[in-house]
Amino acid sequence: MSDLEAKPSTSSSTEPVRVVGPRPPPSFGQIGAVIGIVLIHVGTIVAFTRDFTWKLVALAAATYFVRMFAITGVYHRYFSHRSYKTSRFFQLVLAFLGTTATQKGPLWWASTHRVHHRFSDTERDVHSPMQFGFWQSHMGWWLGREHEHTDFDKIPDFASFPELRWLDRNHAVGPAVMGTALYLIGGLDAFLWGYVVSTCVLMHATFTINSLAHIFGSRRYATTDTSRNNFWLALITLGEGWHNNHHHYMNSVNQGFFWWEIDVSYYALRGMSAVGLVWDLRKPSPQVLKRNLLKEVGEQSPLLLKQAAARAAKQKPELHVPLDMQPDAPPPGIG
Ligand SMILES: [Zn+2]
Ligand SMILES: [Zn+2]
Repeated sequence: MSDLEAKPSTSSSTEPVRVVGPRPPPSFGQIGAVIGIVLIHVGTIVAFTRDFTWKLVALAAATYFVRMFAITGVYHRYFSHRSYKTSRFFQLVLAFLGTTATQKGPLWWASTHRVHHRFSDTERDVHSPMQFGFWQSHMGWWLGREHEHTDFDKIPDFASFPELRWLDRNHAVGPAVMGTALYLIGGLDAFLWGYVVSTCVLMHATFTINSLAHIFGSRRYATTDTSRNNFWLALITLGEGWHNNHHHYMNSVNQGFFWWEIDVSYYALRGMSAVGLVWDLRKPSPQVLKRNLLKEVGEQSPLLLKQAAARAAKQKPELHVPLDMQPDAPPPGIG
C-alpha cells in the first residue's frame, strides 16, 4: 500500500500532533501570512471604491479560472494525488502556474493535503470542520505554526526534483511576476482586479472545500470521513465539490464520476491530454464506482454516526407519566 493509499492510522503513528501548552510567539512566516491576508482583503475593498468596468471584472474572472485550475488540476490532482503524468519540463511550468495562486509552494500544498487524506476528520486533520469548527478549518489552520514548513517526507516522489524544491522555497516569485506584469500592462486597476480581487475570491473558494465540503452536500459513498458532494462548490472550484467521490477514490483524475457531475478541471486535463501535454489519466473502474455505496452498506463515518446517535437521543420523545399515575407512587398527601 503506498503512502497515498494509506488508511488513517491510530495513535501509534509518528505524526506530529498539535502541541498542548503555552503558545510560542508568532514566527516571521506567520506574521507575513497574516499581513498578506489582510492586504488582499483591504486591496479588494479598495478595488471596489475605484472605477468599475466589465473589462476589469472579465480580467479578474480569467485570472481566477486559470489559477483555480492550477490549484485543482495541478497542486491537487497532480502533485497531491499523481492522477496523471507529464514531462519534467511541463511539470515545472504547471508548478510555476500553481504558485501564482498564492497558496504557497507545490510541495508544501501537496504534502499538507496528503495528511488531510491520511487522517481525515480525526484530530490530526488540521482543517476538519467537525473537529475544529468552521473558521479554523476555513482559514485558521493556514496560519498555524505547525503547518508552516514543507514536510518533504510526505512528498519524496516530487521532492527529488531540485527545481521543484527551489520553486517551493521561492513560491513568492510567481505572484510577484504576475502582479508586476499586470501593473506594467494595465496599471493599478489591472493589478487590483487581475491579481488582488481574483486572489481573494480564489483563496476563499479553495478553502470552502476544507470547510463546507465536509458539512454541506450529499454522501454517495460510505467513506470513514465526513466528505460530501456539493454541486455549487463543484461549480466555483471547477470540480472539487465532488468531494465525497474524491475521498472514495482519491487518485482519480476526474472528481465528477458521472456526466452530470460538472468537473471543468477534468475537461481541461482531457484537452491537454488530447494535444499530448499530459497522459496516463487515471480513472475509477466500474467496480470502484459501485463499491461501498452508502445506500447499500450504510453510514461508516464514526463522527456522523455519533452525531446521528446524539440527535436521535435528543429527539426521542420523553414518555412523561404524571407522578400520581405511576404505579409505585405514594398516595397524594403521604410522605
Ligand atoms: Zn476532504
Ligand atoms: Zn485530495
